[in-house]
Amino acid sequence: TLTGEATALQRVRVAVDAPQHSGLTGPLDYLGPQDLAPGTIVKVGLGRRESIGIVWDAAAVDEDALAESELRPIGQALESLPPLSDRWRRLLEFAAGYYQRSVGELAVSVLPPQLRDLDAKQLHGRLKKLDKAEARAAQALPSRSVDPGVAPPATASSAEDDALAMPDPPLDDGEAAATASGEAELDATLPLSPPPLTAQQQTALDAVRALYAVDPPPPALLWGLTGSGKTEIYLRAAEDALLRGQQVLVLVPEINLTPQLEARFAARFSGHSIVSLHSRLTPAQRLRHWLSAHLGRAQLVLGTRLALFASMPRLGLIVVDEEHDPSYKQQDGARYSARDLAVYRAHLERIPVLLGSATPSLESWQHALSGRYRRIDLTERIGGGALPRVRLFDMNRLERKKGVTTALSMPLLEAMRQRLARGEQSMVFLNRRGYAPVLHCDQCNWKSDCPHCSAHQVFHKEDRTLRCHHCGVAQRVPRACPSCGNPDIAPLGRGTERLEEQLAAALPGARIARIDADTTKLKGSLEAQLTAVHDGEVDVLVGTQMVAKGHDFRRITLVAAVNPDGALFSSDFRAPERLFSLLMQAGGRAGRDAAQAGRSEMWIQTWYPEHALYQSLQKHDYQAFASSQLAERQSAGLPPFAHLALVRAEGRTVEAAREFLVAAQEAAQQLPLSLGLLIYPPVPMSMARVADVERFQMLIEAGNRAQLQRFLRDWLPDLHGLKKRHKGLVRWAVDIDPLVI
Ligand code: ADP
Ligand code: ZN
Ligand code: ZN
Repeated sequence: TLTGEATALQRVRVAVDAPQHSGLTGPLDYLGPQDLAPGTIVKVGLGRRESIGIVWDAAAVDEDALAESELRPIGQALESLPPLSDRWRRLLEFAAGYYQRSVGELAVSVLPPQLRDLDAKQLHGRLKKLDKAEARAAQALPSRSVDPGVAPPATASSAEDDALAMPDPPLDDGEAAATASGEAELDATLPLSPPPLTAQQQTALDAVRALYAVDPPPPALLWGLTGSGKTEIYLRAAEDALLRGQQVLVLVPEINLTPQLEARFAARFSGHSIVSLHSRLTPAQRLRHWLSAHLGRAQLVLGTRLALFASMPRLGLIVVDEEHDPSYKQQDGARYSARDLAVYRAHLERIPVLLGSATPSLESWQHALSGRYRRIDLTERIGGGALPRVRLFDMNRLERKKGVTTALSMPLLEAMRQRLARGEQSMVFLNRRGYAPVLHCDQCNWKSDCPHCSAHQVFHKEDRTLRCHHCGVAQRVPRACPSCGNPDIAPLGRGTERLEEQLAAALPGARIARIDADTTKLKGSLEAQLTAVHDGEVDVLVGTQMVAKGHDFRRITLVAAVNPDGALFSSDFRAPERLFSLLMQAGGRAGRDAAQAGRSEMWIQTWYPEHALYQSLQKHDYQAFASSQLAERQSAGLPPFAHLALVRAEGRTVEAAREFLVAAQEAAQQLPLSLGLLIYPPVPMSMARVADVERFQMLIEAGNRAQLQRFLRDWLPDLHGLKKRHKGLVRWAVDIDPLVI
């Protein structure tokens, strides 16, 4: 608490948790002590509640600012915590501006939630506990390169040095910290024996090292097949950074992939402090890990997109694994792309960023083509593991032979039987869970439509329910057609549950497991199921795209996609890109073991075997696929050749949603900055109704990113005002660089 006597009070700007639509976009003025450093986390009153805020940089006082006598005083300052760095604040400022959010709302939302609830004293207690725990952990660490029996190990003493040095952290002189803590302990604990690099990996690592010769280093696109040794390059690049006493941030698209990668980093960098950051941590863990990164103690931070905002005072390298993955885009609130922000953050910090993928996003690929990103290629699989042979199975042939009843072709089943006989595994994937996507009455044409959404309710046989995958509403399966009483209602189409049933019937004795969102609801169940596959307890794995991503199954020699055609003709312009990368990734699951590589296969059951996408896939030719897609995007004026923003409106009625956007469109046309932009008329979203809410959208297209940004800055404040006049409007939001339009 402040007495106002010990230190003179003055105007202090604080970024607070006020949403953009409150009209308060920038930091607010409070009265606080003169010596409060920017970046300090403080408690402030906001309306009638207490909130946390971050002391922001001073700015010129504008004319309609409140007089100092009217300002509210700042509450507690969490001064036992070092302030958030200047660069961190620049990152947040940029992200908030670019994605059109208030800076305080975004900044507060990316801090660990528990920080909000702790007062200065409690936080001080937490920090003390953290110190003790880390000193204990350091002492318990086996010291690898120091003689056994020599105590205490080098790491313990340096961790304590760290702790002592921390209350006054080196925010702007990372160099000092590097020599004080980093190097001394690394000498003692560097890993035993990483594998010698292949010639190609060595060239790639040299190229990574060469990035530092440019200031700021250009972003690098590490393009390499699954199994080509990309992760090994991440590890080496990370090692370089650790040796310089820097911290490393590694992003992965999905929580499920963090334990695997964490294990690999932990094995390599034992004796180093590695923390993870993702939404499945307990609030206490998340705070602890965040603090560890912020205090500069965690040397490696691994996490999902939210980890992008971790405060890391000595950040030296960012890795974005599977950079093409849609999960890097946040789908609500501030709809940021952690991949794009990683590139910005690296630029700001003047450090390299490695974007890794076998099938880069077309945005990143285009940047590499234009020379803005530096491309680093890994074209060979480690150990010479060949890529699976891709077989395009023409479903048209099947129909003529009338073998189509199960929609699992006889040759595919035969190939699976061969695997069974040899004790090898197969993986079959289908991007649709449940038993059947819809129930149907052929007497009256009734369909199991969701009463609240423009979608069918999916038939789940296991618990005899009809469930809407959009609003969650569920009901018992009716005994007869609710409309005409016909007792013979039948499932139409097929989901993973039905596929599992069909496979069980066709392959008697085979041990079949299914992995999808339904079978992995319980915490730990995915891990348990994956372990069973690894341990060879499963012959055939059935699943949705969940199984195609990232898991390294060595004994799988057959991967089959039984119905992937939907994406070829989707209205979603990124659907082909996603399908290609999913199939490449799924194929990468097969034959990673060189001994089996020769006979590993990927089967695609398709009605369009001649389609360019499958033709490129068959040759494992991402480059050909990318150039045909880029040509299409260019002629259609789509990203990366155009820049998009999407405004979505949700209303209780169709009119409410549409009229808001019509008014928004009119407001846009009044603005001089709209000249040269394409503003499309409002249209219903492809899922037009969800949970009884009507959804419309309006697309804005610009040839130039800066122009789009300037226009949005002018226009969006109008929309905040408009909302008040549209009563039936539930909400609206803007999505910059939307993934789906
Ligand atoms: P990616 O990340 O591209 O899928 P990884 O780095 O995981 O590839 O490498 C694939 C496999 O090859 C892993 O099991 C890894 O341990 C191994 N590996 C990578 N580099 C080497 C190397 N230089 N020598 C031997 N094995 C390697
Ligand atoms: Zn009927
Ligand atoms: Zn629904």
